[in-house]
Amino acid sequence: MLIRRTYKYRLRVSKTTAARLDWVLWQCRQLYNAALQERIGAYQMRRVSVNYYDQANQLPSIKEVCPEYKEVGSHVLQDVLRRLDKAFQNFFRRVKQGQTPGFPRYQGRNRYDSFTFPDIAGWKLDGDRLTLSKIGDCRIILHRPLEGSIKTVTIKREGQHWYVCFSCEVEVAVPTVAVQSEVGLDVGLLHWATLSSGEQIANPRYLRKSLAKLKVEQQSLALKRRGSNRRKQQVRRVAELHRRVANQRKDFAHKISRRLVDSYDAVYTEDLRLTNMVKLHNMALSFHDAGFGMFNAFGAYKAASAGKLWLQVNPRYTSQTCSGCGVIQKKELSERWHSCLCGTELDRDHNAAINILRLGTSLRVGQPTAMLTPLGVGGSRCDGVSVTSTWSQRWYPCLQREPASRRHPQSKLAKLRHL
Ligand SMILES: [Zn+2]
Repeated sequence: MLIRRTYKYRLRVSKTTAARLDWVLWQCRQLYNAALQERIGAYQMRRVSVNYYDQANQLPSIKEVCPEYKEVGSHVLQDVLRRLDKAFQNFFRRVKQGQTPGFPRYQGRNRYDSFTFPDIAGWKLDGDRLTLSKIGDCRIILHRPLEGSIKTVTIKREGQHWYVCFSCEVEVAVPTVAVQSEVGLDVGLLHWATLSSGEQIANPRYLRKSLAKLKVEQQSLALKRRGSNRRKQQVRRVAELHRRVANQRKDFAHKISRRLVDSYDAVYTEDLRLTNMVKLHNMALSFHDAGFGMFNAFGAYKAASAGKLWLQVNPRYTSQTCSGCGVIQKKELSERWHSCLCGTELDRDHNAAINILRLGTSLRVGQPTAMLTPLGVGGSRCDGVSVTSTWSQRWYPCLQREPASRRHPQSKLAKLRHL
């Protein structure tokens, strides 16, 4: 199977090369904004829409008028116009879908931060030495080997640093693994996540630390006078911290997803797009706002290249339902303990993780979700949690059944006693 993989490396650039890269970025941004202006103007004045080819055909004449564009690779310039075209296509597609997207915007100096060599022209890689035509040489910090054949090369600025991203086509042979171990994962507020095995993954302390620091620095930024030198300095400091936080988040997501994929054949997590607002709202206050989507994306591709499974399930009722008997019990967010009449006693998040595991399993084996799923007999389930109650030998109603608010635990108990 051929897959696309992006390898990102830090660049070591001299001052002159950095200035040159900045200059190219500036030219690309100018072109982007001019092309955007042309599209808007053409529509407003003549009601015509301009497409990518109309604009790309103008590049030679632009170079006649503005000779500085001769100093930038022509494929790089074409890629700028293609980006704009993509922005418009995405905009119209989303309008068609009934969403309310933002109109493609003019790019400010701090916003436009990368340019791309869309093919094999204009760059050369020799060991750790990257030569960019009309720009110069720089060294790559090759922290990991590059695999596959390079399709595009993107140079990116992040704060004070420069990076290169190689998009490569990699051939991978993926044997499909028979699922022998599986796990459910519930993201929480107190802990970053709880696994169905009962293990808790704590919020990383370093992230908490830098978030607190970011808050202080941002408050200090708000007090600086606009246009002052000290404000400029502070802006740089805040940007650096943001970069640090983003990297720490990414690092954490990589490490946890790697560990899960290595130790389980199937991992089930929540699809937070389907979650109830209460949970989302509380997550926004914690570490999860940006991190969880990324975590899922990392896990999914890691699982895919290991021949394993990474599934997302609908998290509805997963924290309200009893993992022992399937009865739905309303719980406040502050209630940290799950205790049921059937004798199930465990941590709230652990309970939810077990439910997520069960949902994931039924999704994997392709059972219609409204069906009853048998619970492992013998008091111990695949995740090693022992259930002492006799309920474990009964049938477990799957979670995606409609909320049985009137299904009172007492009456259900009575009914089953009669069986
Ligand atoms: Zn129960």
